[in-house]
Amino acid sequence: MGLLETTELFNRKDVPQEIKEKFQEVKRYTSHLEARLSMLSAENKRLGTAIKEQRRSKQSIEDRLSVNSKSGLLNHLKLNQDMVRILDEVKDKVSTNRFGVLIIKLDHNFDIVNKTLEPSMSEWIIYKIGDRLQGYVDKNGSVYHTRDDEFIIVYNGIKNTLRIESIADEIHKEVRKSHIFSGYHISVGCNIGISLFPEHGLKKRTLLHNADIALGYAREQRSVYQIFTEELRDQVVEKMELQNYIIKALEAQAITEINKQFELFYQPIIRVNQNKSGQTVITDIYGETLIRWNHPTKGAINPDKFIPVAEETGLIIPIGNWVLYTATKQMKQWEKDMGTPIYVSINLSPVQFANANFVSSIERTMQSRKIEPRYIRFEITESCVMEDPAESIKKIEQLRSTGVAFSIDDFGKGYSSLNYLRHFPVNTLKIDKSFVNNICSNQFDQVIVRAIFALAKELNFEVVVEGIETKEQFNYLYAQGCTLFQGYLFSKPKNPADFIEFYQTNKFSEVLG
Ligand code: C2E
Ligand code: CA
Ligand code: CA
Repeated sequence: MGLLETTELFNRKDVPQEIKEKFQEVKRYTSHLEARLSMLSAENKRLGTAIKEQRRSKQSIEDRLSVNSKSGLLNHLKLNQDMVRILDEVKDKVSTNRFGVLIIKLDHNFDIVNKTLEPSMSEWIIYKIGDRLQGYVDKNGSVYHTRDDEFIIVYNGIKNTLRIESIADEIHKEVRKSHIFSGYHISVGCNIGISLFPEHGLKKRTLLHNADIALGYAREQRSVYQIFTEELRDQVVEKMELQNYIIKALEAQAITEINKQFELFYQPIIRVNQNKSGQTVITDIYGETLIRWNHPTKGAINPDKFIPVAEETGLIIPIGNWVLYTATKQMKQWEKDMGTPIYVSINLSPVQFANANFVSSIERTMQSRKIEPRYIRFEITESCVMEDPAESIKKIEQLRSTGVAFSIDDFGKGYSSLNYLRHFPVNTLKIDKSFVNNICSNQFDQVIVRAIFALAKELNFEVVVEGIETKEQFNYLYAQGCTLFQGYLFSKPKNPADFIEFYQTNKFSEVLG
């Protein structure tokens, strides 16, 4: 009703007062409703804005949760979400949608950068590498920064294995490009583990797990990349099985002295010389400890097979402690039985050698057994000392000051640098068996072995030649001035009782007489 009409109604005399009042009341109520309506509509507007705002901040939290703050790349949460989504999308079109999962792990150069340079530098390197990867992949897939030193790429549209191989090579080149800081060029390498959908798995977990298995192998072999294979999985399963067996064997060994699975054998190392009558005789016999493992169901397991697994898992530490415990116990027993101690050489793994407690644990064992340290010799390989030469020299010198001796085992087999030898305070070099195999016919081996003898003389090392299997090998090497020999020609590794019998029968007897 309009304003005019209202005024008109109030002026009319024929309209009863009661109606006029009712009308008045309705009018008041209507304007109240109108006011309320406009309030509600303002409230509604505000709510709409708030909801929009909330949606925006939810998105931004989700975005932040999906991003690695160091590189600005997508992170592992996003990788998981994306893989679930992609796999769901392609599940019905498996044959036409081949894609690759590449795990890229930066190599030890990155660790060095991380430990030695400012944190901002390693962050910058990560950022740059991530940026290059993103640039390389472009629209063909996605790059995720999943751990400090790890990126994962999901690469779409892989037509064949050759293609993924060239992608891996190109990614490696991108990662390796150097970074320049104040004139220095820093380059970080990487290893890449690859799995392919659908042949290496239809599920996210399987694809990532298999790429990780391939990565482990690439790192072990120091190769740029490795594509997953069934054999690699079998190897991993076998390793895990072996690891469990070692743990069980160590547990059993600790509980009971009988039914021991591990045993220590001793292989004679003989010293020869001419006696007054011109005969070549054995003047001394030492023993090298070699571990043996008789598994209750698997039978004898070769040390070459289980020692690398024990090293990888750290189980070599308890095994090494057991070897030291058993060898020193045996030495004490022989000393008691024979009235004189026997020199024993004990093999040390690089993992034991690198252990911070290594020196103190050996010192403790020698003291508690009351063993004269000069009867113990440790055999270490070149890889033991090359990892951290300064620290290794310190450890060797510390133990040598107590009287313990050191040999470099398998000399010549690895990346021997004759130059570093002068810095290592060892007593003996053991020339690797591979030089001995063809020593009578291979001139190259002859030159090398003669050079090692000359060097050893110069630097005052003794030389043991291992792996002597024939009389000809012995004769050739003896003629070159070698006096310490080890090999099947004289004796295979023996249990303690047989070793002592060999010792008693052969000491001071004519060589091969
Ligand atoms: P190694 O220290 O170089 O030991 C010499 C290996 O060559 C032994 O194999 C020995 O039986 C074998 N051998 C000795 N003479 C001859 C020969 O004339 N011909 C041939 N064909 N072989 C010969 P084994 O006992 O199987 O040990 C293999 C490796 O396992 C050892 O090589 C050593 O690296 C490791 N190992 C053995 N016991 C221990 C241990 O207690 N601790 C550690 N860390 N490693 C051990
Ligand atoms: Ca050895
Ligand atoms: Ca050796």
